[in-house]
Amino acid sequence: PFDVLVVGGGPAGAAAAIYAARKGIRTGVAAERFGGQVLDTMGIENLISVAETEGPKLAAALEQNVRANDVDVMNGQRAAKLLPAGDDGLIRVELASGAVLKSRTVVLGTGARWRQMGVPGEEQYRNKGVAYCPHCDGPLFKGKRVAVIGGGNSGVEAAIDLAGIVAHVTLVEFDSRLRADEVLQRKLRSLANVTVLVNAQTTEVLGDGGKVSGLAWRDRLLGSEHRLELEGIFVQIGLLPNTEWLMGTVELSARGEIVIDERGQTSVPGVFAAGDATTVPYKQIVVAMGAGSTAALGAFDHLIRAPLR
Ligand code: FAD
Repeated sequence: PFDVLVVGGGPAGAAAAIYAARKGIRTGVAAERFGGQVLDTMGIENLISVAETEGPKLAAALEQNVRANDVDVMNGQRAAKLLPAGDDGLIRVELASGAVLKSRTVVLGTGARWRQMGVPGEEQYRNKGVAYCPHCDGPLFKGKRVAVIGGGNSGVEAAIDLAGIVAHVTLVEFDSRLRADEVLQRKLRSLANVTVLVNAQTTEVLGDGGKVSGLAWRDRLLGSEHRLELEGIFVQIGLLPNTEWLMGTVELSARGEIVIDERGQTSVPGVFAAGDATTVPYKQIVVAMGAGSTAALGAFDHLIRAPLR
């Protein structure tokens, strides 16, 4: 069995694996797709001390860094079930392949995925004007026109944030009203370079073949069709944690995020978690890396306190 089994090979999982392996304990990583969301990212300019890198480059560096340590890397493996420790003190992780991995502690770092609009052009112009992370990509649209899709807290926060950087923001909400906290809505309405559209259904991301040039939307009350000319679209309609497989085993928040304490400990003894899959409020690479190392150190603390067998 492993001492620390990490599930997930994104920034959180990679950091956890390196921290665990450096304690000289048996460490494994099972990941569906090593690299995680980083693989889908182009420019990364907020990984502190690295002025600029690209997703696939960072993903390769993460994997190389993990493999340079004594870590058993199992790529292409999806975890399907977690079974808390029984009398033998071993936690079991059942893989989709049917194999069962045993470990004294587990670090969950299965990340999250952005909910997509599912309209024509969204996939084609991803990273070419269609963005999901204002903290990451906001500065790329300095002085340009953007839309934010979604009027919940994250959409309105993104619109306020972007209004300070870009020339103009159009907030596009499907429903008849915004759902964000009143204090955020008040702040939004105070900004001169923000327009709010309600009852507005985005129907297509328009582009010139290379990058985004606009957005088509339908007025849900009048049925009329409209077009906005702009350079960027930030989709803020939800971040879905990859935790469906943990339902009923590990405590999850109402949004499906793994509930953790300051050491990354979950509700299941010996099971820790880190990164975008958890209740951490900010979903970022450096934040996930820090959380991964915290969870691994939490797991190590747990191991040295475990009863002798
Ligand atoms: P992830 O990166 O999501 O990794 C999760 C890992 O778990 C993957 O290996 C996945 O295959 C695996 N996994 C999932 N389910 C299972 C399962 N059941 N069994 C086994 N393995 C599983 N952040 C920044 O700081 N700067 C940026 O510039 C930036 N740009 C971004 C651009 C885009 C387009 C996107 C989508 C995100 C961006 N982010 C950026 C956010 C950043 O990528 C995430 O915060 C970070 O990757 C989270 O790391 P993580 O390890 O928690 O999860």
